Amino acid sequence: MNYYVMTLFPEMIEQGMNTSIIGRAMAKGLLTLTTLNIREYSVRGDGRIDDYPYGGGAGMVMQAEPVCRTYESLSEQLGYRPRLIYLTPQGRVFNQQMAKEFAQEKDLVFLCGHYEGIDERVLEEIATDFVSIGDYVLTGGELPSMVMMDSISRMVPGVLSNQESGETESFAGNLLEYPQYSRPEVWRGKAVPPVLLSGHHGNVDRWRRDQSLYRTLKSRPDLMEDVVLDKKDRKFLQMVTDQPEMEGEYPITEEEARFLRKLLAIRKKT
Ligand code: SAM
Repeated sequence: MNYYVMTLFPEMIEQGMNTSIIGRAMAKGLLTLTTLNIREYSVRGDGRIDDYPYGGGAGMVMQAEPVCRTYESLSEQLGYRPRLIYLTPQGRVFNQQMAKEFAQEKDLVFLCGHYEGIDERVLEEIATDFVSIGDYVLTGGELPSMVMMDSISRMVPGVLSNQESGETESFAGNLLEYPQYSRPEVWRGKAVPPVLLSGHHGNVDRWRRDQSLYRTLKSRPDLMEDVVLDKKDRKFLQMVTDQPEMEGEYPITEEEARFLRKLLAIRKKT
């Protein structure tokens, strides 16, 4: 995977992407990262790339020509027009499924905006995707591009030492991951759940699956609508639903119980 980042602050990207798993993957040649400084393509004597917005209003806007020239210079070098993601709070909200999809590309270009954003006309010409990392506004696209590259890289074969960990993590199959524990067995009076010490793989897997279902119900019920439930999952969720409110091993609220009853009724029919 080759990443190209069009930015006004290349040093921010270079410093941010050089460590840990991503840094190692770059050293191994599984990933490459090239920053393209939009300032170098300024068409003005003073080297600036921003100007006032037509129609008035606060802030400055990045001009179309330097942004376009940066992309054209890269396209010429590569011999084709690669996919270009414009980071914007107005885009589709990034998720794990999108990370998997982007990981299939050979080259990916990220365009980082700054100030009030970028002249719309150049976005119409060069952007193939508009992606947001969440419903809040940041000062620039640099952090969002790093968030995306980090997540996409984990989906590139060979980047994670144990490929399995990318497949059982949160959002795999639309569920959040089960809780994790490591040594010591008892920490400040809190013991590791006994099933994890049992050595019984079937029971461990079942416990983890139940925990994933329960956690997703508690934190992200919206994800549960698309979870594929087998017979054992339905049995577990039925047991959780039938518990008296806020009692038992898996306490739930009345609202969560109503949600589960509805979900289980729908799943019974399908
Ligand atoms: N005026 C723009 C608007 O209201 O849509 C926001 C501009 S923001 C201050 C400057 C730049 O930060 C954007 O061009 C974009 O590249 C980046 N940015 C800010 N928030 C973002 C988000 N949630 N996701 C992705 N990029 C974001």
